Amino acid sequence: MQNTQLTDSYQRQFTYLRLSVTDACNFRCNYCLPDGYCPTNSEPYLSLEEIQSVVSAFALNGIRKIRLTGGEPTLRKDLAEIMALCKSTTGIETLALTSNGYRINKQLKHYVDAGLDQLNLSIDSLVPETFRLITGHNKLTEVLMAVEQAISLGLKKVKINSVLMREYNNNEMQSFLNFVKDRPVSLRFIELMQTGDNQAFFKQQHVSGYSIQTMLEDNGWLAILREANAGPAIEYTHPNYAGTIGLIMPYSKNFCASCNRLRISSHGNMHLCLFAEEHHKLRPHLINEDTEQLAKRIRELLQHKGAAHSLQQGNSGSTQHLAMIGG
Ligand code: SAM
Ligand code: SF4
Repeated sequence: MQNTQLTDSYQRQFTYLRLSVTDACNFRCNYCLPDGYCPTNSEPYLSLEEIQSVVSAFALNGIRKIRLTGGEPTLRKDLAEIMALCKSTTGIETLALTSNGYRINKQLKHYVDAGLDQLNLSIDSLVPETFRLITGHNKLTEVLMAVEQAISLGLKKVKINSVLMREYNNNEMQSFLNFVKDRPVSLRFIELMQTGDNQAFFKQQHVSGYSIQTMLEDNGWLAILREANAGPAIEYTHPNYAGTIGLIMPYSKNFCASCNRLRISSHGNMHLCLFAEEHHKLRPHLINEDTEQLAKRIRELLQHKGAAHSLQQGNSGSTQHLAMIGG
């Protein structure tokens, strides 16, 4: 690295922005939006012009990677334009997207043409009925087809996100491992996180990533040495597997010490942590300030970032569900 000017008061460096483009979603994941999407904010989402201001200011501060997220980002009709705008901004080297993959097939080629480099698809179960129970939609086949399409389109990285849940997918480990046997994808198990809306569900379903770590190490998987600023995921490789397995364990000790990401919501709020109590409204400044001023404002706000979340103490800040911010 790194020309980042985004260093917080704990000497963490930030080169990665997660930019949410909508909080709406077409799925009803049981841990996120079990009753489906209910709008809570009547303001419009960030416009292309506002997104350009955000991206330019972060790029000037040294952000090199942007991940577009949501809600479900593919619901935005102008997503390919947003991608082209991000990718043509000086300094932005890598453009990634996180999606539930439902209906992405018709658009994926356009997204790649617009500059998309990396795709994360969320697949919490490889059993069609369990997938339906989790997401509210019988769409596993379509999402699996999106994985194959992403590989064949030659995206630089294809990742699968699976949220671990005791009674839903914790018994599918062998199928998940088989899935990466011949596919060059990174499958990442994410520990279920508590939010304002899912407290009872969290108590019933949370599984620690340590059980997966032990299983991987007992079966010949080796942790890949991580670069400085690689972020909080631990990645495992195995000589007999084309793909890799990642673990994201937000409840583990020191998880926040390697935090390398900042977040902007679809309404232009800067979230210094996924589980912060407060956020900072950038929107009023997006059109009125020039890129230098906005970049300076962002650097100043960063100094308020706390050392760590307090999820272990059952405190998820003001985050009701992750569709609000983008995960
Ligand atoms: N809709 C898109 C999707 O599902 O991929 C993007 C937004 S979603 C909020 C981003 C990621 O956060 C998904 O992989 C989802 O599974 C994960 N997620 C949502 N709520 C979560 C929770 N409470 N704990 C852990 N992961 C969660
Ligand atoms: Fe939608 Fe993603 Fe939340 Fe599922 S996890 S409800 S797909 S935003």
